[in-house]
Amino acid sequence: MTFKRSLAEELLNRIRSVVGQNDASLPLHAPEFLGRERELVLDCIDTGWVSSVGSYVNMFEAEVARLSDCLHGVAVVNGTAALQIALAVSGVNAGDEVLLPTLTFVATANAVTHLGAVPHFIDSAYDTLGVCPTLLRSHLERIAEVRGGQTWNRKTGRRIAALVPVHVFGCPVDMDGIDAAISDWPMVVVEDAAESLGSRYKGKSCGSLGTVAAISFNGNKILTTGGGGAIVTNNADMASRARHLSTTAKLAHKWEFVHDEVGYNFRMPNVNAAIGLAQLEQLNNRLVLKQRLFDGYAEAFRGLSGVQIFKAPIVSNSNNWLITLLLDRAYAKDRNNILTVLNDAGIMARPVWALMHQLSIYQSAPRAILTQAEDLAARLISIPSSAYLGARVNNGI
Ligand SMILES: *Cc1c(COP(=O)(O)O)cnc(C)c1O
Repeated sequence: MTFKRSLAEELLNRIRSVVGQNDASLPLHAPEFLGRERELVLDCIDTGWVSSVGSYVNMFEAEVARLSDCLHGVAVVNGTAALQIALAVSGVNAGDEVLLPTLTFVATANAVTHLGAVPHFIDSAYDTLGVCPTLLRSHLERIAEVRGGQTWNRKTGRRIAALVPVHVFGCPVDMDGIDAAISDWPMVVVEDAAESLGSRYKGKSCGSLGTVAAISFNGNKILTTGGGGAIVTNNADMASRARHLSTTAKLAHKWEFVHDEVGYNFRMPNVNAAIGLAQLEQLNNRLVLKQRLFDGYAEAFRGLSGVQIFKAPIVSNSNNWLITLLLDRAYAKDRNNILTVLNDAGIMARPVWALMHQLSIYQSAPRAILTQAEDLAARLISIPSSAYLGARVNNGI
């Protein structure tokens, strides 16, 4: 008699064949502190340089920029603030629309809203999980027109000021495709590179593919500063304006307090930058371990019907931030059962975020047809992706 295991049980077995038996629950992505974090944090405390001024912030900024193939970096308190400042220095004003994928973390849309601008949701591509160039172009052809060198939404009458591609789970978007898709519609490209530090598209770092980019160093990202973010760009004017805006827009002076616009108190504290500098030193090791983990999972899931591991296109190198499964359409109905079985077994597994246009806060926002994102969202499951798990692959544990 043959016994056919359910897809959920089969997935559980195959995940365990990679990560080993787990006593405690395995998180999706655990922070790891294996370098000089303790030493540099203690130095902040011993010297008193814990807050918004200090040498680690400057070193952290230079290193984030270097690792992103950018000339300038500005460190801030989190990725959402980084996005908000990146949009502001790109000239996004209150009342403008900003195009962004509906399949993203809520922070992308919130950063737009915090500026008084309006998120406008677009669809995602199957090959990258990011903005779909073909559907973006056809949507713009339907709703956009160019007047006075700017792009306008004919339906809402608002200016479309920017596009925010998101490198979902670390997989780079098809940037050449996107650039071609918007070539007839002037707008600034602000990358949401929150999840993609260390990812590359055609050899170029994510964060250097648009005009300006935002990176997150939240506790669940590939590297963390506790909480933190950075703006990276090759544009010197944007960088200095980002620094100015994120430090209360205070004019440099020996003692006077003169602020020339309504700025923000967004600067990353030195103590967080100290952690971050130590983390950045581990990026390369972490990328290697996460690739090993991805390869281990890919091997374990080979030949399994009903599900595939999501793999970045051949032109890209993902940082493999979150490793993700895509169920076949026939198994979409089993998603919640699979999530239950994995989580009950201590293997943390999560669906992708609720789509932005399906949140009550954004249900009346302008949008394209979003059927591919809806189809993807019903079928994606992220599985434990911490770098340390990569050390278990092929180690016979
Ligand atoms: C994490 C994240 C952000 C926001 O970063 P925080 O540091 O949490 O504010 C923005 N966009 C995406 C896609 C993210 O994953």
